[in-house]
Amino acid sequence: MSDFLFMEKAIELALNNVITRHGGPFGAIVVKDGKIIGRGRNEVTTSNDPTAHAEVQAIRDACKHLNTFQLDDCEIYTSCEPCPMCIGAIYWARPKAVYYAATKQDAAKIGFDDQFIYEQLELPVELRKIPMKQISPSTGALPFKTWENSQDKVEY
Ligand SMILES: [Zn+2]
Repeated sequence: MSDFLFMEKAIELALNNVITRHGGPFGAIVVKDGKIIGRGRNEVTTSNDPTAHAEVQAIRDACKHLNTFQLDDCEIYTSCEPCPMCIGAIYWARPKAVYYAATKQDAAKIGFDDQFIYEQLELPVELRKIPMKQISPSTGALPFKTWENSQDKVEY
């Protein structure tokens, strides 16, 4: 299947999601060795999950299918340019490439504006809209120390 056809599959998921009233107009697929191994559609409102963006759902589906936590040699096709959360998820999943159809500007025009998140990320932590403060009880270092000393941890 060509890049173009894979992208059409992602767009089809997005369109069906709107038609079936299942969620926002976003779809994504994960491809490995020319095969679709993961599918995702936006399910924020139907699953009451603000993280259920198409790309995250597709990554979860693909990882479940591959039984791994990394998408080595995989490509993600998404109907729209990923938001900052999904970009983060994509970096953690480590696919080899990402392709998108609509741009974030297209999404902003219909009410899905993630520009404020990019702006928030650039601000020093103390100036962000949602307060983020460090709290340091004496046990704070324990998880890291225990991890560092663990002999049988699965690194990623
Ligand atoms: Zn997203």
